[in-house]
Amino acid sequence: MYKIMTPGPVQVPENVRLARSRSTTNADLDPVFYDEYKELCELISELLHTKNETLILSGEGILGLEAACATLTEPGDRVLVLDNGIYGAGFADFVTMYGGEPVLYTTDYLNEIDVDAFAEFLKDNHDFKYAAVVHCDTPSGVLNDVHRICPLLKSYGILSVVDSVSGMFGNELDIDQGQMDIVCGGSQKAVSAPPGLTFVTISDDAKKAMENRKVPVASFYCNLNIFKDYYEKQWFPYTMPISDIYGLVAAMENIKNDADLYTRHHKIAVATRKAIEEAGLTNHLQSGFSDTVTVFNVPEGLTANDILNRMQEAHGIMLAGSFGDLEGKVIRIGHMGASANEADMIATLAALDETLAYLGWEAKATLVESFQKNFV
Ligand SMILES: *Cc1c(COP(=O)(O)O)cnc(C)c1O
Repeated sequence: MYKIMTPGPVQVPENVRLARSRSTTNADLDPVFYDEYKELCELISELLHTKNETLILSGEGILGLEAACATLTEPGDRVLVLDNGIYGAGFADFVTMYGGEPVLYTTDYLNEIDVDAFAEFLKDNHDFKYAAVVHCDTPSGVLNDVHRICPLLKSYGILSVVDSVSGMFGNELDIDQGQMDIVCGGSQKAVSAPPGLTFVTISDDAKKAMENRKVPVASFYCNLNIFKDYYEKQWFPYTMPISDIYGLVAAMENIKNDADLYTRHHKIAVATRKAIEEAGLTNHLQSGFSDTVTVFNVPEGLTANDILNRMQEAHGIMLAGSFGDLEGKVIRIGHMGASANEADMIATLAALDETLAYLGWEAKATLVESFQKNFV
């Protein structure tokens, strides 16, 4: 068994695993389960500071994103895709798949989106049905200021779809204050449940746009409209994965009861970045650091695989490389959800100290001491 310190999936606490072993009922027919599902949806909305309705879908994060795209996009719709990372750019593929016309707003991949520059761009370019933006783009860890970006979009009547799968519950998200229309999350990131569920919160504006479309949605599973009035009708469009839902209830209760959640994530992220610098490594990003993942460049003379393999084989700790253009170039330490705790970070950084020394790299300071000094 590895200690999982990847940017999703993350460690799953025992009470979440145990909740998944509860005895089950017929999820289609049992009114008690309809209540449990709806209460969980309401709890997620509450934790994300919104009056908007949340729906939980049976599939991992990608399903929520694709469902938002499938249900909003009509053939010929212009969709603005904010692109400063791999997930950002990837949303354009969904738009094309559902007949829309993606327009990319591409900025450099080492920095968060400059909101003032984006505001200038919007002045002359705002003929879009909706825009897609990633909160934390996990392959690089870049965090975008969605609380400023989405209200700007709204001021031009552009709906927003926010991918916060790896951001929410590590970096605080206030959906109503940020006027976000659709926000997508997943069970296996900071939520700290196993993979398998995605949840989508949907504003009234987004519902209107989805219900008033002229062309039918070209999907059943990805059609958010099929959940309409599920509670009043006591009818789910497909059988809910009841054990996954029980696990998610426990995971969301953990989040609700964790008064220190966001400060702990922030303190860990800050101390880890300082340790990276003080040791003589380099953080991959220049700005827009998320509190859920730290990404550093593989030092010259070493390979990502050498580091990852030594961490696994000698220390039983799993870190992640990355993909796309970043493959082989960076190492990612996930410190989100249940993995975001001081003891596991200290164990991870001590192991990384040993690994780098073992591979012949000379550090200017030890990661673990530097982390402890800066963890205040
Ligand atoms: C993890 C993640 C997803 C969901 O993708 P997976 O296939 O579960 O990895 C979507 N968006 C972002 C930004 C993510 O980090």
